[in-house]
Amino acid sequence: MVANPSHPRLRSVSIAIAVAIAYYSAAKLGQYLAIPPGFITPVYAPSGIALATLLLFGNGIWPSIFLAAWVAAAWPLAVSTGLLTASLIAGLGIAIGSVLQALTGAILLRQLIGRDQLFYNAPNVFQFTLIELLSCMVSPTIGCISMYGVGFIDGAEFANSWFTFWLGDTAGVLIITPLILIWGRPQPVIEHSRHQAQILEMVLWLLLVLGFGWLAFVWAYAVEYLLLPLLMWAALRFGPRWAAIAPLIVTGFAVIGAVHETSSFNRATLNETLLLLQAFIAVIAITTLVVVAVVLERQRAEAALLNAKANLETKVEERTAQLRASKEAAEIANKAKSEFLANMSHELRTPLNGILGYAQILRASEPLSDRGQKGVAIIHQCGNHLLNLINDILDLAKIEARKLDLHPTSIFFPAFLEGVTEMCRVRAEQKGLEFTYLATAPLPEGIALDEKRLSQVLLNLIGNGIKFTDHGSVTLRVHPQRQGDHYRIRFDVEDTGIGITPEQLEKIFLPFEQVGDLRKQTEGTGLGLAISTQIVELMGGKLAVKSDYGQGTTFSFEVDLPAVEAWTQASRISNNGTITGYSGRKRRILVVDDRWENRSVIVNLLTPLGFDVIEAQDGSEGLRITQLVKPDLIITDLMMPKLDGYEMLRAIRQKPDVQHIPAIASSASIFESNQHESIEAGANSFLPKPVDAIALLELLKKHLALHWVYDYTALDANAAQGAPPEETIEIIPPPAAVLEKLYPLAMQGRVKALQTEAKALDITYIAFAQQIQTLAQRFEIEALQVFIAQYL
Ligand code: ADP
Repeated sequence: MVANPSHPRLRSVSIAIAVAIAYYSAAKLGQYLAIPPGFITPVYAPSGIALATLLLFGNGIWPSIFLAAWVAAAWPLAVSTGLLTASLIAGLGIAIGSVLQALTGAILLRQLIGRDQLFYNAPNVFQFTLIELLSCMVSPTIGCISMYGVGFIDGAEFANSWFTFWLGDTAGVLIITPLILIWGRPQPVIEHSRHQAQILEMVLWLLLVLGFGWLAFVWAYAVEYLLLPLLMWAALRFGPRWAAIAPLIVTGFAVIGAVHETSSFNRATLNETLLLLQAFIAVIAITTLVVVAVVLERQRAEAALLNAKANLETKVEERTAQLRASKEAAEIANKAKSEFLANMSHELRTPLNGILGYAQILRASEPLSDRGQKGVAIIHQCGNHLLNLINDILDLAKIEARKLDLHPTSIFFPAFLEGVTEMCRVRAEQKGLEFTYLATAPLPEGIALDEKRLSQVLLNLIGNGIKFTDHGSVTLRVHPQRQGDHYRIRFDVEDTGIGITPEQLEKIFLPFEQVGDLRKQTEGTGLGLAISTQIVELMGGKLAVKSDYGQGTTFSFEVDLPAVEAWTQASRISNNGTITGYSGRKRRILVVDDRWENRSVIVNLLTPLGFDVIEAQDGSEGLRITQLVKPDLIITDLMMPKLDGYEMLRAIRQKPDVQHIPAIASSASIFESNQHESIEAGANSFLPKPVDAIALLELLKKHLALHWVYDYTALDANAAQGAPPEETIEIIPPPAAVLEKLYPLAMQGRVKALQTEAKALDITYIAFAQQIQTLAQRFEIEALQVFIAQYL
């Protein structure tokens, strides 16, 4: 950029000249509008110009004002008196007075209010008025003294001259200074663009001003107060700039009227007329300024509000973007966590499959020494513990990722509870505790619930009760209550154990929190209650606890469960390794798995039962063998190289000659999504790894319509754990009519009823009755069904 030094100087000189011309012209105009002409000016505009220009351009502009004021004062004096020296001296006094007055005002206003804050609000306007009333005394004082000094006024005229001089200056400042300041700088707040309607409004306003002005100042009706609402109208509707002009128009009209002696202010004496006129001018000027300040204030508030709104919107947008980003990050992290857990679970389950699988195989098929039996039992137990741990951690992860869903099925409720309590009874008895299970009202029969999850909660609570009780009893109390189409069921698990202190109570529901006896803690993981709480909440209930330290603890919860008519027999209790084979032709089973140890578990579980098991190492081999051999059933892994389990299943379901073959998907990934995907791909069932032999056999029975052959003596021998085998008596079945009565009971899982019926049987059928009793005690419902069915 090229500097142009002459430019600012030129600008200052132009401003100085312009100010001087403006001042001088206003003074001249004032003389024409004086009352009587050439005598006293009611609104002395130059004083307003002097103050405004000092405020706008700085104090340095004073020489222009000084010169213009001197010439404007001395010249008419010289012309009218013909005394040049006296006129120059009086003019000099007036000019000095004018400059000092304007400087005083400007300095005070800048210091006390601030140049840009003068019409900021009503209090500032009042301050402005007060400061000007005071500072406008400077020029009349110095001016009158110099006039008196040169003999232009005498002592009698002094006070009157000073007063009209003062009022004229004040009126000039109140009308002209705001006008120049408001027009002289950019509007701090937006002035709305004018529409046609507003221009019409302004025309109407002007006509009204002229009309009322005519009445008041030409026809001398005392209706000048009617102009006040018009001034407010202008201030409220047309913005500050036009509002500042309005008093000027009215003042002009009033002054012209007064000069022509036609206004309502005109009185017999000049003093009276001037006083009324100037009071009127001061009132309209101050009123308009106050209204303008209020309007400005409102506009600023509006602008601030708009600004705040815009800021808020930007902030909301920013915040939403941030939240979205962090939500995405959290989702990615969560997904990564889930994937990690799924993979880890898969990796841990695969070797466990080998451990647990072979423990089951060895227990069922190998002749082992006592030590060997115990060792295998320990391997099985430890493996199971590890599996439970993995399952617990996975459950917790699923709960955290909100992926734990309930899968309710219709079940026979009494059998479900029998099953759960039977498992607990054995453990309680081993510890020498009394275990009581009672229902306070008849139990509903068919109920829809997620068996796996409810039994998980009950087993955890009862298990804890047994674990933390050394003497006394553990009680499960069930209170069913029919409520329309559902039952409200309350479960209480009460023990007489060590109890929990109030401080401990706060912690026990948190994951990995264990309290109290250290030895007992090693038996658990501290996850049970955390998971149970979440499951109960998922079922719509709340797990509560009451405990007296040293006396015992009661956990309770209440859930609403729908009643159902069509329930299927539910039993989670199975017969450990008593199946020795099946009736009918040999079935061929294809096992598809890329890991030999997994295949070998299935091969070794199923071959002794008389199955022909063939193996494939991956999906493509599995597909080929399926088409070649057409097995009776396929058990397939899901994650495999080349062609995975899903793809293989999809391909098989496309081929007409093999699409009917039942398939079981078996995977160490037990996420529900994998299970669903495998069923969608064409699997008939899902079997989690490590493979539970009983679950596998149940699925085979279901899909191949098998009838198992049992060896009950082996079961008894196993159960007695080394006790000498009982003498076996040949079983004589009761007549068909009795069997037909017993079979439905077995199918419904009504163990108690079966036991009663067995007791009532004739002595001839003692062996049959004993077998029923044994199986019923063990809750071997399926075995009971098969046992009775074979004689039907
Ligand atoms: P754990 O696997 O240790 O049993 P839980 O989450 O099931 O984990 O229980 C957490 C802790 O709560 C237990 O370690 C025990 O200190 C306390 N607790 C739970 N149930 C009982 C009970 N019936 N009596 C006394 N303490 C209990």
